[in-house]
Amino acid sequence: MLRIAIQKSGRLNEDSVLLLKECGLKFAGADRKLIAKVENFDLEILYLRDDDIPRYVHEGVADVGIVGQNVFAETQLSAVEEQKLGFGKCRLSLAVPKEAEIEGLSWYNGKKIATSYPNLLSGWLQKNSLNATVEEISGSVEIATGIGLADAICDLVSSGSTLISNGLKETAVILKSEAILISTPGLSSEKREILKRLQFRIDAVQKADKYKYILLNAPNSSKDEIIKILPGMKSPTVLPLAESGWSSIHTVIEENKFWEIIEKLRQAGAQGILVVPIEKMIM
Ligand code: ATP
Ligand code: ZN
Repeated sequence: MLRIAIQKSGRLNEDSVLLLKECGLKFAGADRKLIAKVENFDLEILYLRDDDIPRYVHEGVADVGIVGQNVFAETQLSAVEEQKLGFGKCRLSLAVPKEAEIEGLSWYNGKKIATSYPNLLSGWLQKNSLNATVEEISGSVEIATGIGLADAICDLVSSGSTLISNGLKETAVILKSEAILISTPGLSSEKREILKRLQFRIDAVQKADKYKYILLNAPNSSKDEIIKILPGMKSPTVLPLAESGWSSIHTVIEENKFWEIIEKLRQAGAQGILVVPIEKMIM
């Protein structure tokens, strides 16, 4: 039995639950209890506050956990970083009132910076040989300059709209973050086996998100040219259409390459192009 800790509620909860569900796991949500047993996999889910996840994993109370790199790095506890998960993307940034005239990092010398990330901020200040006071607060960091508590803040940013609505501007990025899967150091071989099976599924889900299945029709005379344009996994499938002289071509492409090649495909004579999402992809 493997035990995974995920956030009980908040920004990482929904995507963590979705990822596990897309891995085919059946389990109850956090509203019912603290621990949910997965019905069809050797796994138990522990719902926690995100700040507690690194400690639970470090101590082995949970074998693995899903947490933001920001929280993991701030706690400075040892655990193995298994893989990035591609959601919960944000950055830990410094921001100052928008009217402040900042010419270089030396502006921060002698200033007071409010943050919920004292370790990461202190480390960054030290690395940049800056001498600022770190004021640790647990929430509502974005209002700290407005109420006169600090000269600058160091907080999580994703779109930046919260900063703007509080009259702040971002001046430096301290850490780029996304959700990661961490594990207890020295996991038993039995648990490692279960984790491997879970990671196999996670990889299949993640690859599927990045790729699309594409189907198109083409006159046989343009078949070779079209096949050259398609950057498939292997060579594409080519099937004859009922109408003679025409073929249907199927392949898998990376979604972000799609718009690059669509024009070329049409110029080469492709018609009836369908792009279909892939649910799972195993290579
Ligand atoms: P908890 O109640 O579990 O302690 P929380 O309020 O500390 O939750 P959330 O706001 O739910 O935390 O954020 C959880 C994580 O989501 C963050 O640590 C970060 O990794 C990620 N995240 C992504 N975008 C943002 C954002 N714009 N602001 C804050 N966190 C973000
Ligand atoms: Zn938290």
